Amino acid sequence: MLKYSSKKQFLNDKTILVTGAGDGIGKQAALTYAEYGATVILLGKTVKKLESVYDQIIAKGGNEPAIVPLDLKGATAKNYQDMANTIIDQFGCLDGLLHNASFLGHIGPFGQITEEDWHAVFQVNTHSQFLMTQALLPALKKAQNSSIIFTTSGLGLKGKAYWGPYAISKFATQGMMQVLADEYENTHIRFNCINPGPTHTALRSLAFPGENAKNLKTPEEIMDVYLYLMDSEESLDTGKTINAQ
Ligand code: NDP
Repeated sequence: MLKYSSKKQFLNDKTILVTGAGDGIGKQAALTYAEYGATVILLGKTVKKLESVYDQIIAKGGNEPAIVPLDLKGATAKNYQDMANTIIDQFGCLDGLLHNASFLGHIGPFGQITEEDWHAVFQVNTHSQFLMTQALLPALKKAQNSSIIFTTSGLGLKGKAYWGPYAISKFATQGMMQVLADEYENTHIRFNCINPGPTHTALRSLAFPGENAKNLKTPEEIMDVYLYLMDSEESLDTGKTINAQ
């Protein structure tokens, strides 16, 4: 894997949408893409967090980002279609899409999973990715090269007791990526998954409250793979799941 400190500004003229851009890994990915020259579309649930990321990008001299406040839990096909139309109007095309936002849901025995929790996790982690990717395909096709990154987890590679809907939704994410990569093989659109590995974020603290965060990587430390998969000069990968650690 390349070390990207030597390739500053290689994302000049690129427009990249990041979901869950207000916190954790998504926030760091948005800041990093902006640092390397991209114009970033910040999508997330909490507007204050998105505004804070916006301010940090501007303060560092980055291109002015766009903010899309959207709760993936309630978003409809029309919301995504409106967003896609606005992106084509404002930017002409979309070069990159990082599906990063996720909802953990309830961790516990399979027999106690409620239908409500199952729906909520699948709505945020899987259904929204289907609707958003479908709506954005025309904008992604207009780019010279485009890269769609999905986010999986070790739990999407090997199911584990008590991780119920979250783990199963990550298997579905891998499946969606593989179907799309096969369908778009030999085109200029690439689809891959990143497995971030244990990383110090709010979601991680919620899932493992007793864990010593000092033993975890920070989002900043895992950014090389996020840059690599957006680098159309270096990466021809498609259909792959890459471990960030
Ligand atoms: P965080 O909880 O730190 O950040 C998640 C982001 O997603 C937040 O900005 C949050 O917004 C946003 N989000 C959550 N729900 C919604 C929603 N309904 N609509 C819009 N935005 C939403 O998580 P991480 O950074 O840890 O996780 C990022 C990705 O990495 C996830 O896909 C996760 O499954 C994966 N992952 C993480 C690991 C880790 O150790 N951290 C390990 C393996 C995988 P808000 O802050 O406004 O709620």
